[in-house]
Amino acid sequence: MNLKDKIRVISDFPEKGIRFKDITTLLKDGEALHYTIDKIVEEIKDKEFDLIVGPESRGFIIGTPLAYAMKKGFIPVRKPGKLPAETVKLQYDLEYGSDALEIHKDAIKPGQKVMIIDDLLATGGTLRSTVKLVEQLGGEVVGVLCLIELMYLNGRETLKGYDVRSLIKYE
Ligand code: 5GP
Repeated sequence: MNLKDKIRVISDFPEKGIRFKDITTLLKDGEALHYTIDKIVEEIKDKEFDLIVGPESRGFIIGTPLAYAMKKGFIPVRKPGKLPAETVKLQYDLEYGSDALEIHKDAIKPGQKVMIIDDLLATGGTLRSTVKLVEQLGGEVVGVLCLIELMYLNGRETLKGYDVRSLIKYE
């Protein structure tokens, strides 16, 4: 199955000039969703880890079925104010302005091995911040997996030294 065929590209969303990769067309296709999760399992089955961490919100959609399939726990990384217990927070810069992400302070025990999952690697800001949050809690990031990688934005440069893998690449 060619997964790229299942992804819809929307021009000028959320801003003019951006070609947004819409995965909802893949998600609503039962065969394609099943195949996607199986392919990711295949891609990372050589890795040893205790937990999967995924950033809001499409990281949840990919990360949770993956965690289920691999019998691992799932930890959400969220926008500020969403997690109910004590959190650690990390602010990061965007092209214009800044954003922030949080994780529960007790989500990861020092030394636990973590696989980070998201739907798409663009500039790398989101995944880089997720890596930092995991490390702040003493977790060891064994790899970063994204379904889609926008090669032209060079996001993996911000994740130098980490094992970054992706299934679908846009040149
Ligand atoms: P980055 O932080 O790497 O610049 O952006 C990646 C984050 O933004 C991911 O969490 C992803 O869900 C979202 N994102 C940015 N561009 C797209 C896109 O074209 N399609 C989808 N599905 N998500 C995107």
